[in-house]
Amino acid sequence: MRILLLGGTGEARALAGRLHPDHDIVSSLAGRVPDPALPAGPVRIGGFGGVAGLRQWLGDNAIDAVVDATHPFAATMTAHAAQVCAERGLPHLVLSRPAWDATGAARVASDVEAAQVVADQQYSRVFLTTGRSGVGPFTSSHAWFLIRVVTPPEAVVLPRNHEVLLSRGPYGYVDECALLRDNRIDVLVTKNSGGELTHAKLKAAADLGVAVVMIDRPPLPAGVGAVGTVDEAAAWVAGLER
Ligand code: NAP
Repeated sequence: MRILLLGGTGEARALAGRLHPDHDIVSSLAGRVPDPALPAGPVRIGGFGGVAGLRQWLGDNAIDAVVDATHPFAATMTAHAAQVCAERGLPHLVLSRPAWDATGAARVASDVEAAQVVADQQYSRVFLTTGRSGVGPFTSSHAWFLIRVVTPPEAVVLPRNHEVLLSRGPYGYVDECALLRDNRIDVLVTKNSGGELTHAKLKAAADLGVAVVMIDRPPLPAGVGAVGTVDEAAAWVAGLER
């Protein structure tokens, strides 16, 4: 069986490492970041060209099954994969790491709602960690922002008062505490990405009394099978070939 592994996450890399070379896999990356961490085994890079492009690519490459291990907020790719696999009757699994515990956070459904909470609560020093595409709704805010991104923000106009911190995790507790303290942060805005690599900011915020605004994950497409760990996904793949 030839398996497409939709990636861009540490879990996808771990799964590729588990499956290659015993299974015939090809990993796919969106190509957003320069110099991405590459998974083991064959890799293709770049969008497929929407639903039609994905349909074509799956056929051209004789794919028998798809594991979608994209980031929990990569909702468009996940929707496209679910739709095309359903149409073609292909086995399909989503690997989505468990969400963080959002107890104590202000939970919102979008970047726009997060910006509204920041405005309503009159926070003045914001640690914004929602990624390069998440800055836009904050541009008219009067607060000061520490914007931490892997690659520069998409928004052409940024908040009037800000600093961009280009960096890639993992991040440790001591450094996250120092970052919050040194920048006198009063609120952390984050997606509920889950996972260990970027979790330290939440513990640091809790211990320093920094408020948290957490954007909930988009729901998975209806009827899609999902697991939370690399072990479960590897077992699912092994089961396909029995
Ligand atoms: P998205 O909004 O769901 O996808 C937008 C488009 O990017 C898709 O329609 C597809 O283009 C292309 N794409 C996305 N993932 C792809 C993949 N693995 N292989 C090939 N094409 C892909 O995704 P996103 O939020 O921009 O995220 C892009 C990638 O970064 C994902 O692979 C994700 O795992 C990773 N990532 C995302 C986040 C996040 O917060 N969203 C954080 C960390 C890593 P076509 O329509 O042309 O096929």
